[in-house]
Amino acid sequence: GGDFSNKIDYVFKIVLIGDSAVGKSQLLARFARNEFSLDSRSTIGVEFQTRTLMIDHKSVKAQIWDTAGQERYRAVTSAYYRGAVGAMLVYDITKRQSFDHVARWLEELRGHADKNIVIMLVGNKSDLESHRSVTTEDAKDFAQRENLFFMETSALEATNVEPAFITVLTEIYRVVS
Ligand code: GDP
Ligand code: MG
Repeated sequence: GGDFSNKIDYVFKIVLIGDSAVGKSQLLARFARNEFSLDSRSTIGVEFQTRTLMIDHKSVKAQIWDTAGQERYRAVTSAYYRGAVGAMLVYDITKRQSFDHVARWLEELRGHADKNIVIMLVGNKSDLESHRSVTTEDAKDFAQRENLFFMETSALEATNVEPAFITVLTEIYRVVS
């Protein structure tokens, strides 16, 4: 038999959105390289990272795009959203404002992206439970109303990061296959 190790069956573009400092870059570092840094400057300038994994015996390359500090309202350009089939909409469970802005991000996402885009609402920094300012229930209710998947994660402790991305990738696969 031949060497099929480089064969890619699908490439899925996923975008990370949400307020600055919620942990988007660290979620990506955790998922793509199993790394975490307390220094948020470490990933500036990186457009996207990839990780290839098997879903239903197919090789799926996740191409995950990160904002390079363009989180100011409406500063993320339409090129960023173009071709995206999945999105991780991230807030920080300790920063109420980052959750209050989720509706705005969702509106922007829905204005730019494909209407079948798979969206995961991600409440990051679940390791900081004592500083929590957004309840799990509030986020769950919002996600249900807006038809989003929902998980709380910790990029720091690597909690739920893998399941969050894999849920989105598997759902995209289900839609396109
Ligand atoms: P971004 O602006 O959304 O890309 O946020 P970053 O990924 O740069 O993270 C902002 C800050 O939050 C950095 O100091 C990270 O180390 C920190 N951070 C990110 N994820 C977590 C997490 O899950 N738990 C904790 N405690 N800190 C985190
Ligand atoms: Mg970042």
